[in-house]
Amino acid sequence: MTELKFRTEIEFDYDVPREVTKGVTRIVANNPSVFTFKGTNTYILGEGDDLALIDPGPEDDAHFEAIMQHVGPRRISHILITHTHIDHIEGLPRLAAATGATVCGYGRVARDSGTISTSPSGAESYDLAFTPDLQLSDGGEVAGSDWAIKALFTPGHAPDHLSFELKDRKVLFSGDHVMGWNTSVVAPPEGNMSDYLASLEKLLDRSDDVYFPGHGGRIEQPQRFAKAYLVHRRWREQAIMSAIENGHTNITKIVAVVYKTLDPRLVRAASLSVQAHIEHLAEQSKVMVAEPLTFESTLTLA
Ligand SMILES: [Zn+2]
Repeated sequence: MTELKFRTEIEFDYDVPREVTKGVTRIVANNPSVFTFKGTNTYILGEGDDLALIDPGPEDDAHFEAIMQHVGPRRISHILITHTHIDHIEGLPRLAAATGATVCGYGRVARDSGTISTSPSGAESYDLAFTPDLQLSDGGEVAGSDWAIKALFTPGHAPDHLSFELKDRKVLFSGDHVMGWNTSVVAPPEGNMSDYLASLEKLLDRSDDVYFPGHGGRIEQPQRFAKAYLVHRRWREQAIMSAIENGHTNITKIVAVVYKTLDPRLVRAASLSVQAHIEHLAEQSKVMVAEPLTFESTLTLA
C-alpha cells in the first residue's frame, strides 16, 4: 500500500457546537457512514450579528436545531455551499427558509444527469436542481462584518466543488476535496480525475496553515497533505498500469489486485475510482479503451 497517513482524530459530540479556531464554530451532523466518516461538518463563521454558514448538512431535526440555537438572536446572512452532494446540501431548503440567507455556490454543473446505478454509494446522491442566489466562481468573494471568504474552484470530487479561504487567516475550508480521514472519492460521471489532480496542484502554491474539511478533523501542514495525495494518486496510476500489463485487463480485475483488502460496501466506489484513473490515462493516451467504458471493457496499454 501507500505511505499515506490518514488523520482520523476529531473531538466532537454530535450537534454540539465547538469553536475550532477563533470565530469558526463546527457542528457535526449525526450522519456517519463509510462515505461521510463521523458525519458532515457544518461551519459557522463570525462573532458579530451577521454570520456565514458553510454546508447545511443533512436534513435532520437535531442538526437544524443545533444550528439555530447556536445562532440565537443573531442572523445567518450567507449560506455557502461547497458542492451539491446530498450530505452537504439536503438541509438547505429548511435552513434557507428559516434564515432568509443569501445562498452562495458555484451552481450545479450538468456534467451528467447520473443515476442511482452510477453513484458510488448506490443511492441518489446529488441535487441537480441547485441554483445559488449568488453564483461564486474562482476568486469570488463574500464578506460580513467580521469575516471574509474567497472562493477557490476545486472540481474533481464534484464538478461544482468550491473550497473557501477565510481571508487573512490562512484557513481553508476544503470541503470534500481534501479530507484527513480518507482520500476523496473521485467517481465518474460526477468525479473527474484530471480535474481532481489539477485541483490538488492548485493547493500546493498556497500558504494555508490549516484546512477544515467537510468530514473529519482539522488538517495541519495541509500542503504536505495535498502533496501526499498527489503522490498517492500517481502511485495508484502506476499500480493500475502494471495490473493491465500483467493481464488484469478490465476494471473489475484491476480492483481485485490493486485493493488487497476492501470493505464490500466500497467495491463500487473503488471500481469507479479505478474508472476515473482509466479515463485520465486514456486522455493522456497511455491506455486504450473500447467505448463505452464499463467495468468489464477490455483495456490495453497504448
Ligand atoms: Zn461529503
